[in-house]
Amino acid sequence: MADFGKVVKLFVGLIALLLWIAILTPFAPLHAQENQGNPENFTYTVQPGDTLTLIALRYNLKLAGIILANNLSNPNLIFPGQQIILPGVMLSPAPSTPPGASPPAVDQTHLVQPGETLFGIANLYGVSIGAMVLANDLANPDVLYVGQTLLIPSGPPPTPEPLQAPFVAVELSEPTIIQGRTLVIKVTLSEDAGLSGMFEGRPLFFSQAGNQQRWSIIAIHTLTEPNIYPITLTATRPDGAAVTTYENVTVAAGPYGTEDIQFDDERSELLDAELIELEQKKLVNLWSQVTPRPLWEGPFRYPVEVSSLRITSHYGTRRSYNGGPATSFHGGTDFGGGVGAPIYAAAAGRVVLAEPLTVRGNTVLIDHGMGLFSGYFHQNQLVVSQGQEVQAGALIGYMGSTGLVTGPHLHWEIRLQGIAVEPLQWIQQEIP
Ligand SMILES: [Zn+2]
Repeated sequence: MADFGKVVKLFVGLIALLLWIAILTPFAPLHAQENQGNPENFTYTVQPGDTLTLIALRYNLKLAGIILANNLSNPNLIFPGQQIILPGVMLSPAPSTPPGASPPAVDQTHLVQPGETLFGIANLYGVSIGAMVLANDLANPDVLYVGQTLLIPSGPPPTPEPLQAPFVAVELSEPTIIQGRTLVIKVTLSEDAGLSGMFEGRPLFFSQAGNQQRWSIIAIHTLTEPNIYPITLTATRPDGAAVTTYENVTVAAGPYGTEDIQFDDERSELLDAELIELEQKKLVNLWSQVTPRPLWEGPFRYPVEVSSLRITSHYGTRRSYNGGPATSFHGGTDFGGGVGAPIYAAAAGRVVLAEPLTVRGNTVLIDHGMGLFSGYFHQNQLVVSQGQEVQAGALIGYMGSTGLVTGPHLHWEIRLQGIAVEPLQWIQQEIP
C-alpha cells in the first residue's frame, strides 16, 4: 500500500516536473499557419506544457470556441505537436483603432451567479479581464455581487491610454505571469524624475538601467488568486509634480501538485510552533532588508555540481503534513545527493547568516541586493561566515540532513521581499 502510494507520488512528481520544464520555457511565438479550408482559422502546434486554458488566455480566445472548433472530447488531453485550430486568430495584427475612437461595441450582458469570479466570467466569454474591467468601470475586480449585470465587451480590445509624461514606456517581462514567478518591470522616463511603485501593498525598488530607464523585480506569490492586478507607478518631477499610472499584470494558475509529508514522532517534535516562529522571525528580519543595488550579474548557477544534478522536489507543490490539510507549499527546490556533496553560492552577494537553525538546520543566507536573497538549508557543514562577500560559484558548505528533514538534501530558496519564488527561473533566465 505504502509502495503504491510512493509510485503514485513519484508519477505525480514526474508529471509536475515535466509541466514545469515546459512552463519555464519562454512562451513560444505564434506557431500558427494558414489553414487551407478557412482563411479565418489558423492552426497552432501544441508546445510542451501547453494547456487549452493557457492557449486560450494567450490568444484571447474562448475556451469553448477552441473545443468546438477542434471537436475535442476531452479538453484536458492535448499533446505536444498536436495541431489545434484557433478560430479567428489573425496572423497579422488587426488594424489599430484610431485615437479617440468609440469604445468597443457591447452586445451581451451576464448576470453574476453565486461563486462566480471575474476571471471565470471573462474566461467564459473569451474576453480579457482588462476589457471586462474597462467595459464595466470596475473599481475593484475582486468585488462582484450576485445579481450584478456585467457588460461583455466584443470586438478588439481598446488600445491602451497613451502614457502621460514623464512616462515614455512601461514594459513587463511577462504580462501574463504564472504564480510563483518573478516579474521584471522596466520603466522609461523622458526626464530626470523620481520613480516609486507599489504592487499588492509592497513598495517597488528601482535600479537604473540606462539614461532614463529603471527596472524593478516583483515577486508573484505562489498562492496569488488568478486574476488581474494593477502595478501603481508614480513619477515625481524635479518641480515636485507627481504623475501616477497603472500597469496591469494577469496572474495565471501554476501547474502545482499536492503532496503529503510524513514525519516520525521524534521529528514531529520539531514542529513546535514556538520554535518555528522564533526561527521564522529571525529570517524575516534578514530577508526584509533591501540593499538598494543588485550585487548579482547574469543568470544564477546551480547550487550543486551540475554533473550530479538531481532535483527531488520542485518549488510550489502544495503541502500537507501527516495527513493534514494542504495549508502550505514547498518554498524551494530540493536537490538530492550524499552527505558532504559541495554546495555553491548561486550568485554573488553577501552572507547575512551562516549558523545552525532548529527547523532548517545549518543555514546560509546570501543577500544579492534589491531585496533578493538565496537560502541554503540542512547543510552538514558550513564554510562561510556572516558578513563575508562571495562570488557566484564560491563553496559555502556541504550537503547534510540537519534540521527537519527525512534525508540528506539541499533545500534551496530564492526570496524576494520575503516571498519565496521559483528558484529555477533565476537559473534559466537572465534577470533583469
Ligand atoms: Zn525542500
